[in-house]
Amino acid sequence: MTIGVDDDESAFSPLENNKGLAESWLRICGRLKGEVGEVEYRTWLTQIALGPIDGDEITLLLPTRFLRDWVRSQYGDRLSELWHSEIPSLRRVELQVARPGDPAPLQVADVAPASVTAAPATEDSTAGTKPVPEVRSDLVTALDSRFTFETFVVGKPNEFAYACARRVAEKPSSVGFNPLFLYGGVGLGKTHLMHAIGAELVRSGNVSVAYMSAEKFMYRFIAAIRSQSTIEFKEQLRSVDVLMIDDLQFLIGKDNTQEEFFHTFNALVDAGRQIVVSADKSPSDLSGLEDRLRTRLGCGMVADIHATTFELRISILEAKAAASGVVVPGKVLEFLAHKITSNVRELEGALNRLIAHANLFGRPVTLEATQDVLHDILKAHDRRVTIEEIQKKVAEHWNIRLTDMSSARRARNVARPRQVAMYLAKQLTSRSLPEIGRKFGNRDHTTVMHAVQRVTELMERDAAFAEDVELMRRMLES
Ligand code: ADP
Ligand code: MG
Repeated sequence: MTIGVDDDESAFSPLENNKGLAESWLRICGRLKGEVGEVEYRTWLTQIALGPIDGDEITLLLPTRFLRDWVRSQYGDRLSELWHSEIPSLRRVELQVARPGDPAPLQVADVAPASVTAAPATEDSTAGTKPVPEVRSDLVTALDSRFTFETFVVGKPNEFAYACARRVAEKPSSVGFNPLFLYGGVGLGKTHLMHAIGAELVRSGNVSVAYMSAEKFMYRFIAAIRSQSTIEFKEQLRSVDVLMIDDLQFLIGKDNTQEEFFHTFNALVDAGRQIVVSADKSPSDLSGLEDRLRTRLGCGMVADIHATTFELRISILEAKAAASGVVVPGKVLEFLAHKITSNVRELEGALNRLIAHANLFGRPVTLEATQDVLHDILKAHDRRVTIEEIQKKVAEHWNIRLTDMSSARRARNVARPRQVAMYLAKQLTSRSLPEIGRKFGNRDHTTVMHAVQRVTELMERDAAFAEDVELMRRMLES
C-alpha cells in the first residue's frame, strides 16, 4: 500500500494574488489535517493565521509564544515542505507571534483531509493475497520522498546500519532483525534510513507501515486518553505490519507512554510484525528506560551510526552537489568537509545555501564566495574552540606552564604568550572581553582589550611573529 503525498505543483502563481495564497493555505491545511488527524489538527493548527509573503519567505502568525514554539518544533519542517510544494519559490516559513491588528486565522474548520491516503493497491498485487490492511491516516506521518536508500550515501561509519535497514526493508520480521534498533548522534541519518525502509516497503506493496516520532506517539496516546479512545488507538497501532518509532529517547521519564509502547511492542512482535526504533544512544545507555523495555529493545539487531569521517563527508557532498546540477569545485567540497564536521544535516544545510546562492545570482561557486556566503555558519563552527584549548595549545607552543595563563607573572616570556592566547580567544570564540578576562586569572576586560591591540600591532610589525600566531590559529581551527 502507498502512503504518500502527491506533490502536485499547480501551475497558477499564487504570489500575485491573495486569493491564490488563501487557496494554497487551505490545501495545505487539508493535507496537514489528513496527516496529523482531526484532534491534533484542531488543537494546534487551526490557530495559525496567514501573514505576509515577502520574497521567498512567508510568515505565519500564532496567538502565543508557546503555540509558536510548539508549532515550530512539531510542524515547522512539514509546513515549509508543504508551502514549497504549493509555491516552489518559497524557501522559508517564518512563525511569529501575532500582534493586535494582525489577520485572524482563516476559517478552515471544515477543511477536508487530503492527500495522505491509503492508495488502493494495484490489481495484481492484491490477487490472491490478503486484503490491504486499512491504516488510519492519523497514524501515519507522511514519509519524506527525499529519504530513500538511493539517496543515502554509504561509508564506513554507516555501512552496518545501512545493511541492516536494507535487510529489514527486503524481508521484514526476519529472525535476528526484529526489532531493528538504530542509534547515533543527531543528524547522522537515522530518520533518513527509517523513511527509506518505509519507502521501500510501501513500494513493494501490501505492507502497512506506521512511522512516527516517539514524541508524536506520546502525544497521540495522551490525546487518546483524553478522548477516551485508547482502545481504538491500541487497535490501530496493533494492526500495522511495520511500526517505526523515531527518537525513542523522548519517552524517557514518560512512564505511562513507555508502558503503552511496551505493550504495543510486545503485541506486534508476538504477532510477527516488524518494529524499527531509533534513538540517540544504545539500549544499554538509555538510562531512564524501563528495564524490561530496554531488554526487549536489545533483543533484535542493534546498529549504530558513527560520526562521519572526512571521506564520507566528501562522498555525501559530491552526491548532493551532483544531484543539484550546480558545479561545485572539489576544493570547495574539501573545504566544507574539513570545516563542518558536526553532522550531515549541517553539512547539507551549508551546501544547500551555496547552491541556492549560485542559482539565485547565476555566479559560479568559488572558495571565496563560499567563505562569504557561509560566513555565519563557519564562524559558528569556529566557535567550538574553547578558551581552555587555546590556553593549552599556546602554552605548549611557547613552552610555558599552563598555570601561567592565569598567574600574576609579568615577565615578557610569559606575558606575551598570555596576550596571544587572549587575542586568539577573542578571535576564535564568541566570549566577551570580561568573560575572557575571568578565564585568565580574573583579569579585567581592559587588560584583554590591551592584549588584543598589542598582538594586532605586533603582527603588523613582525612577520615571523604574525606567522606564529597564524599557525596557532590554523591549528586551533582544524
Ligand atoms: P538523524 O535522524 O540521525 O538526526 P537525519 O536522518 O534527519 O538524521 O539526517 C539529517 C540530514 O542529513 C537529512 O537531510 C539526511 O538526508 C542527510 N543525511 C544523513 N546521512 C546521510 C547519508 N549517509 N547520505 C545522504 N544524506 C544523509
Ligand atoms: Mg531524526
